[in-house]
Amino acid sequence: MNKQAFSSVVIVMTLCLVIGCANLPQIHKNTNLQRDYFAENGFGEGVAVVQHPAGEYKNGVTYLAYQGPKEDPYVAAYNHATGEWKGPYKAGVSILGKNPRGKIDSHGKPTLIIDHAGYIHIFYGSHGGVLDLHGKNALGDYHSGENKHAVSARPYDISEWVDLDNVSPFGTYNQAIKMENGDLYLFNRHGAHRSDWVYQKSTDNGRTFESPVSFLKYKARADGLGTDSWYPYVSKGVGNQIVVGFDYHFCWNRNAPRNNRGGHSTERKNLYYMTFNTDTNEWHSVDGQLLSIPLTKEEADAKALAFDTGKNWTFNGTTKVDAKGNPHISAYIGEDIGWQIGGPKNARYFRWDGSRWNGNLNNGLPIGRGDFLSSGDNVSFLLSGIDSQTKRTSVRWWESNDAGETFTQGHELLQFKDDWDDRTSNADSLRPKSLSNLDSPGSASSSFIRNAHPDARIIIAEKADGTDYRRMYLVGDNGPVVRRD
Ligand code: ZN
Repeated sequence: MNKQAFSSVVIVMTLCLVIGCANLPQIHKNTNLQRDYFAENGFGEGVAVVQHPAGEYKNGVTYLAYQGPKEDPYVAAYNHATGEWKGPYKAGVSILGKNPRGKIDSHGKPTLIIDHAGYIHIFYGSHGGVLDLHGKNALGDYHSGENKHAVSARPYDISEWVDLDNVSPFGTYNQAIKMENGDLYLFNRHGAHRSDWVYQKSTDNGRTFESPVSFLKYKARADGLGTDSWYPYVSKGVGNQIVVGFDYHFCWNRNAPRNNRGGHSTERKNLYYMTFNTDTNEWHSVDGQLLSIPLTKEEADAKALAFDTGKNWTFNGTTKVDAKGNPHISAYIGEDIGWQIGGPKNARYFRWDGSRWNGNLNNGLPIGRGDFLSSGDNVSFLLSGIDSQTKRTSVRWWESNDAGETFTQGHELLQFKDDWDDRTSNADSLRPKSLSNLDSPGSASSSFIRNAHPDARIIIAEKADGTDYRRMYLVGDNGPVVRRD
């Protein structure tokens, strides 16, 4: 023992004599409180890639939203300079998730974005709206819930929320974009899975929104077997541009004689891409052809097809452009093994090089969910999935230096250490699992946080057996952001 350590022991022993030692274990207890997750009340999926952004970094703070108990939206914030966490605060009340015996819906997970005045907005709570509550949906069908919009009572303060509810109640899968001039665009599907995809625009920091405008059209198929439907991922492009990567949903009629798989399933095919010029309100294909909206399946096939998945099924990843404006699409693609959900889907990557689409179905990426960065020939995917060796959920980088043709395993940021089976089971865990859980890679992932700090890029929701609750992690280049309070 060196001199300094000896002195410390003497000081502690002296303190023990003076104030008693009862407080000493407390010191150790505080140390033990340090944990890798920032909340353990994530519920259902908690987060997903499609409802985005799930968080935003602004002025040294990362703001996060996720689905908590009873499918209500929760918001937390992390101050990077002080290491201090705030929240989670319940930021609103969803009409989904209130039946204790009902299936967890999870379509209403919150989307978060900060406006030019510093107010934080969340959009949440809908799986297509309800005829009895919301009246006729002119742009599609119904399922449940009500799309809601809440804003922080004060700029950059997540402790109190005000309902605005000034967007269409039918919207689900909210995706929010802020342009450089502060205009907000809210993209969503205007109803259940037989509905148009629309956007609503706000030029006053979200205090009012214009009426929904359809950009992807649902319609009955000419062969009478079902309905054309879509799943897009929307992001900000260069300058005044918004870009859309999307896939086609085969929404079969219940009596459609195809593999005995009548009715809705997660059968989705192909990858498409188009751009939206927010100054002229014109839409274009990647090679500059003008598109009419709402886009039909026929026009999408003729002008906007990026990749034909053939017999494979696909599931949306993120779509974005690089500094030159060239698009990059990620997706999860796998064989159709039948029933409702297809088979396991590996992460896949496609890029437009200025004259053609590149990418392949054998790039070395695993089954997982997450997001990616690209710079020149370097592409990095951050994915949460099951590690093939340890069989545990692992969040790690996958790296390519040949423009995404091949990837190899990179740095691991987080591996779930225990099975988290010591949670007290409650009535909620008796409910049937949501369909999406069956296709899960062992965890749920958000898209990258808007303007993410490298220390805090993505939200991961840890799935565990025996409970519908999730530990929520904020993960960046140094691993999970720890919480000590
Ligand atoms: Zn469907």
